[in-house]
Amino acid sequence: MTELASTMPIATNGQKSNASLLARAKKVVAGGDSSTMRVLPYHLPLVAERGDGARVWDAEGREYLDMNMAYGPLIYGHRPRMVVDAVTRQITHGGSQLGFPTEIGIRAAENVQRLFPSMELMRFANSGTEACASSVRLARAFTGRRKIIMFEGHYHGWSEAVFTKYHAPLSELPERGYAPAIPGTLGIAGSIDDVIVCRWNNLEVLERCMAEHRGQIAAVIMEPIMGNGGVIAPADDYLRGVRYLTLESDVLLMFDEVITGMRVAPGGAQELYQLSPDISVVSKCIGSGYPVAAFGARREIMERIVSGAVFHGGVYSANACVMAAVEASTRYALEHHETIYPHLNRVTDELAAGLHEILERLGVPHLVQHVGPLLSLFLTREPVEKLSEYRDVRRACDFEKFIELQHAMQRLGVYFHPNQFEPMFPSTAHTSADIGIVLERFETAARATLV
Ligand code: PLP
Repeated sequence: MTELASTMPIATNGQKSNASLLARAKKVVAGGDSSTMRVLPYHLPLVAERGDGARVWDAEGREYLDMNMAYGPLIYGHRPRMVVDAVTRQITHGGSQLGFPTEIGIRAAENVQRLFPSMELMRFANSGTEACASSVRLARAFTGRRKIIMFEGHYHGWSEAVFTKYHAPLSELPERGYAPAIPGTLGIAGSIDDVIVCRWNNLEVLERCMAEHRGQIAAVIMEPIMGNGGVIAPADDYLRGVRYLTLESDVLLMFDEVITGMRVAPGGAQELYQLSPDISVVSKCIGSGYPVAAFGARREIMERIVSGAVFHGGVYSANACVMAAVEASTRYALEHHETIYPHLNRVTDELAAGLHEILERLGVPHLVQHVGPLLSLFLTREPVEKLSEYRDVRRACDFEKFIELQHAMQRLGVYFHPNQFEPMFPSTAHTSADIGIVLERFETAARATLV
């Protein structure tokens, strides 16, 4: 560690340190930050001062190549010019919050619909959590049924409706492959009782689960590419099989594309796999860092909201400031997808190949899995060929080793999340030269911690 510590850039302002700022934060903000994943007991302190392109700087003036990109929204990097300009124009000349419908909001919705044609009608919300909770309510209201099927390792926000213990230890997972959800937090009540959690990427288990609950299920909800339990692609024909099973039983299929929307393809996983869900939720990339989500479905389903039978609201829903960001971000994707996605795929391929080559050469068991610019590096205890579901990741991966590696990388000026369930999120701001720097530092960190 001392060898690595000696390569740390020198703090420039001497006054503030990440650690002292966090200690100050803890006196006013419960746990030191308003989102739990940002300050965990095993995090090295990092208080961000600013970001630019593919880089962030901390309170001590240290520069990091950022592979976390705010957990995914920053598809164009930090502070992309066209988004900053659009927001600045809006807040300077129009206002951030007008309390009326706005044309910028209408244009943003039209763009989102062009990207995701399955969303015939949509509503904007302020977060993925809100949009997922509203979608669940909508599914229950539309079908008149209560039960929801979700999947191990998948996360749909922290609402009362769907916050399960999505990273449960193996000992708590049912042998038969599905069971009533374990609530994700103390204090949760009510609607989680109607959630069943099932193994993912396994049609046989889902079929059994659906058969046992025939006539009671409103919706099957999933991340079409698992992102919250590490990146795992759906097996060949899995999504098609789920689509068949849900149609056959008249159950709604909901894709939570909070991560995958506008990331793995302009129109998300539903475009990549050419498969339409009944209800979709999109969020992170459409806002490029501004707080937004959208949920939508075909007209017949969304009619429940149009008629007022299902309530959805929000003082800040579709506020003009955020709509300016969404309009700019989605328009850019619509106009430049032919350059954006090849770039994202190329730099991620370079990252994946480089990580694999280094670890292979050093004899460290691992697996790199990615779907487009959504990548997981898994450090495994033994060599494994494939990880197909959450249980595989839990069983095979060495979480302690990953934390050591992450600490070494952070000290060397590269940030990704220390929990290996969290993917890396390359952006259009990352160049091949940046990936080269990441890989160079990765080799140093891997030699220091894994060999
Ligand atoms: N769904 C998925 C797939 C997510 O990854 C997240 C957050 O990371 C959410 C829902 C919740 O979104 P938010 O944190 O904006 O409430």
